[in-house]
Amino acid sequence: MYLPELIYPSKEGGSKEITCVVCGWKGKGFDFSFSDNFVGWGFMKAGNGLCPSCYQFFKNQDIRKKHFLATTNGIQFLKKEGIRQVLNDLPEPPFFLYITQSHQKQGWIGDLNKVSMSREHFYISTDFTESAIFTSKAEVDTLFKLYDEALELGLSKTEMSTGVFKITSYQKAEKQGKMELLNRVQEKAHMPIWEVIVYVG
Ligand SMILES: [Zn+2]
Repeated sequence: MYLPELIYPSKEGGSKEITCVVCGWKGKGFDFSFSDNFVGWGFMKAGNGLCPSCYQFFKNQDIRKKHFLATTNGIQFLKKEGIRQVLNDLPEPPFFLYITQSHQKQGWIGDLNKVSMSREHFYISTDFTESAIFTSKAEVDTLFKLYDEALELGLSKTEMSTGVFKITSYQKAEKQGKMELLNRVQEKAHMPIWEVIVYVG
């Protein structure tokens, strides 16, 4: 299943016989008109148009600019503060979660076929990791716990994501007997899923 189809399941409304360059669907669709600075050509299939689902999808600018959760009930745009809640209480599959830092890039362009079919093991698509992250509920829960501990110690998000700590953080950790916490954070530094947790935490 492709993301555009999840959000816009209807295949009605097209007028030209096409093969969709995004999902490969054949039938009545639309000419495509991507802007000159469209960066997704490398992900396109052989074809000559867009199916009604993909046409609607690329027309919606919010999909590029906002965090969102897509399910069979449609698309829900999220505030950054609401993402952790979604990760704590994942919806009924199929679903697709997208997190953006740039609010510009089409970060999902290479991930359109990464619709999650399970709450236990699922994808997170972002515009700041190379490709969709495949993770598990257990991993996400563990990392949020680590994040909360690190926050309680007073580590900044930068310290958490780089694993490079200030002298004062070392001093605090030593005083509180939490040097192993610093080690655990350091182990996660630069892991794509940890980047996500620190960003939305
Ligand atoms: Zn399509």
